[in-house]
Amino acid sequence: PQPYDVIIIGGGPIGMACAIAAQQKGLNYLVIEKGTLVNSLYHYPLYMTFFSTADRLEIGNVPFSCIAPKPGRQEALEYYRNIHKLFKLNINLYERVESVHKTPTGIFSLVTDKTEYTAKNVVIATGFYDIPMYINVSGENLPKVRHYYREAHEYAFRKVVVIGANNSSVDAALECWHKGAEVTMVIRKGEINDRVKYWIKPDIENRIKEGSIKAYFYSEVAEIREDAVTITTPDGDVTIPNDFVLALTGYRPDLEFLQKAGVHIANTIHRTPQYNPDTMETNVQGLYLAGVVCGGLETHKWFIENSRVHANIIMDAITTTNNG
Ligand code: FAD
Repeated sequence: PQPYDVIIIGGGPIGMACAIAAQQKGLNYLVIEKGTLVNSLYHYPLYMTFFSTADRLEIGNVPFSCIAPKPGRQEALEYYRNIHKLFKLNINLYERVESVHKTPTGIFSLVTDKTEYTAKNVVIATGFYDIPMYINVSGENLPKVRHYYREAHEYAFRKVVVIGANNSSVDAALECWHKGAEVTMVIRKGEINDRVKYWIKPDIENRIKEGSIKAYFYSEVAEIREDAVTITTPDGDVTIPNDFVLALTGYRPDLEFLQKAGVHIANTIHRTPQYNPDTMETNVQGLYLAGVVCGGLETHKWFIENSRVHANIIMDAITTTNNG
């Protein structure tokens, strides 16, 4: 078969935006997504609220109507499913791209868990939500330790340690406490992170101040056992009884996947992949990056609102270099 003009890896909001842009340019494209449509959003906490207003999550210039200013997970799933129905995007779901490499002819070869494809151009839009930042302490692999949080019910009336002070940790701590869990937060720094949603931050600070939620600042979890957790605090080690640990310490993109495709990764703390911001093309000609994956370990740098533009930048670059 003829190589595709472009294959987009990842069916998140930005992979979908790339597909719309490719379709509008008349390119022969395919999106390959390892899970369901917008798989990362599907795995978000069930009752989460986006920090973005609905209009900032729009792609393809299609209005996102929702009653509250900020949508929740379920409304976002409705929206992106409707986008797929409207544009009839060419997406293969539940197919994982295992590797990408450029052959001597200049054509890319993609191997998936089902088959192989060829393409003249490739866009990697694989996000950052698949690999947790592990805390690397003894007991982290116990089944009671979770790196993803879904909902509070299973933690009700239990002793729960929440690690971290970002949006995910704060949302989980508050929800679990509201549903009757005894919550202890373990926070490496001296305060709740400034990036926590502005309407949530005072809530958590007041729960900590009044003692409803216990917080150990400048502290780290040192060991997790079946029935207890040991925390290293400025006043020495503390061991507390425990039923569950929510280690919500962030996620990171699969940079090894990029490296194997030939993309240079900076040897700095952010491990930023190399790309030209004017075209989003990496050091590998014809291989582009889109969406939050561009930030490397700086996973807060890019989000939907500021990275949906990557779609048109890339498809313009592809069509003007005549690779399309
Ligand atoms: P993703 O949505 O992560 O999409 C990447 C896709 O690639 C996934 O579906 C994944 O399954 C797929 N994939 C990965 N590897 C492969 C492979 N090898 N083969 C095939 N498919 C693969 N951003 C905002 O703009 N506003 C918000 O309010 C907001 N709230 C957030 C709340 C939470 C709890 C989290 C975790 C993130 C939030 N973000 C928010 C950030 C948000 O995740 C990103 O902005 C958005 O998902 C980025 O889209 P993306 O398409 O770049 O990546």
